[in-house]
Amino acid sequence: MIGIDIGRVIISGDTDIPNQFFSEDYLSVLPVNQAFDAIRQIVEKYGSTKVHLVSKCGELTQQRTLHWLDHHQFFETTGVFRSQVWFCRERHEKQGICEAQGIRTFIDDRFTVLQHLLELDRLLLFCPSEKELEAFEAAQKPEKIQIVDGWETALKVLIK
Ligand SMILES: [Mg+2]
Repeated sequence: MIGIDIGRVIISGDTDIPNQFFSEDYLSVLPVNQAFDAIRQIVEKYGSTKVHLVSKCGELTQQRTLHWLDHHQFFETTGVFRSQVWFCRERHEKQGICEAQGIRTFIDDRFTVLQHLLELDRLLLFCPSEKELEAFEAAQKPEKIQIVDGWETALKVLIK
């Protein structure tokens, strides 16, 4: 099972902190470069039942995220099941979702999320910000975590 974060991994900009996604024109926020095509390839390789989206956000952002995914035809394009999108309110809660869904690989732009998922098999730190990179380095760069600079690189790791 593969878990994929949404903010700054699928939807550009952080859905976690105030930005355009918090304004009325949140539907016009762009996808992360190549995200839809890469996730479609992941679904093709592993199957729809194996791919989950896991996002930490508040109630309003949760509604907007689902609306954005529908509006951009994310599910039709990628083959991800809408019933396999999970939300939590705190970063560390992604761990419980991974456990419940049997997720063993996770892709997230935050080390401060991945640090709670070190029990998994494979962790991809996706285009981390300076601050997340610093946190990763301060924690002695746990071996299980691999930095990827975008979806093209992530695909090389996930689809060999
Ligand atoms: Mg994120």
